[in-house]
Amino acid sequence: MTTTELIDLHTHSTASDGLCRPAEVVSLAAAAGLAVVALTDHDTTSGLAEAAAVLPAGLTLLPGAEISCGIRVDQHRWVSLHLLAYLFDATEPAFAAVRARLRAGRVTRARRMVEKLAADGHPVCWEQVSARADGVIGRPHIAEALVDAGLVGSIEAAFTPAWIGPGGRYWAGRDEPDAIEALRLVRDAGGVSVLAHPYASRRGATIGPAVIAAMARAGLRGLEVDHPDHQPRERNQLRRLAADLGLIVTGASDFHGPSKPQPLGAETTSEQAYEALIAGAHGARPLTGPASAPPGGGQAP
Ligand code: AMP
Ligand code: MN
Ligand code: MN
Ligand code: MN
Repeated sequence: MTTTELIDLHTHSTASDGLCRPAEVVSLAAAAGLAVVALTDHDTTSGLAEAAAVLPAGLTLLPGAEISCGIRVDQHRWVSLHLLAYLFDATEPAFAAVRARLRAGRVTRARRMVEKLAADGHPVCWEQVSARADGVIGRPHIAEALVDAGLVGSIEAAFTPAWIGPGGRYWAGRDEPDAIEALRLVRDAGGVSVLAHPYASRRGATIGPAVIAAMARAGLRGLEVDHPDHQPRERNQLRRLAADLGLIVTGASDFHGPSKPQPLGAETTSEQAYEALIAGAHGARPLTGPASAPPGGGQAP
């Protein structure tokens, strides 16, 4: 691998709230010239088999998931977080059970949000919303239904206090594992963890350096510094924090398909960071396409 190769470590498919099928994410990744793409659907690994089955020559698929969790920052404040988990053993029972519980909780919570909307007379029903989710349901599926019903002008507009933004009128919370516990589960399943978009404040409350330091002591390996929702100032702060704490710096598009502006490869991770990350994991291996088989770069006919 040369240093110019593109590595994108955070993408979504229809297995969660992305708009492209896993196979399509792979073909788009190849078309974008990526060398490595991680599929990190919310709380599930269910898209990986389809993605792996169509891997072309020269593209590596890094198995992963984006795990919903949270952390108590003081007596009264719980902050929701996303942990990118890579290369864990998806069959390890303790972590698999937590992902299953998270998925079940997502259904209950989406139903509650739809009930709140209906109670206020908004023309949104569970059938419309659930029909949009091919896999793990999330707020973007509700946001799409709100756009379709003409209640908001855009997906963005649905993520505001008037609708389903954090703590918003029709928002509902759910049980999330403690981040320290999530870090332990990932590690015990042989994986490595990177804190997703740590300073993306437009998505809701964020944590500060002291809490990130506590997570580093509990096994966090990296920080997703280069993310579309981070401003240059936030990236600089996070880069310094990563250096102070000895954490790996990653960058990724958080690709969701055409519902978000960023294309695959919009942000990338260095080869050194990628190698450091995978060196710390033993629950699974990166998956390669057919071309990696013959040495010397030859391609099967
Ligand atoms: P959920 O996991 O159900 O809480 O939904 C969170 C998802 O909604 C994130 O993974 C993003 O894909 C999306 N999202 C969060 N905030 C925004 C926003 N401000 N605008 C558009 N999409 C968002
Ligand atoms: Mn998402
Ligand atoms: Mn996220
Ligand atoms: Mn994401």
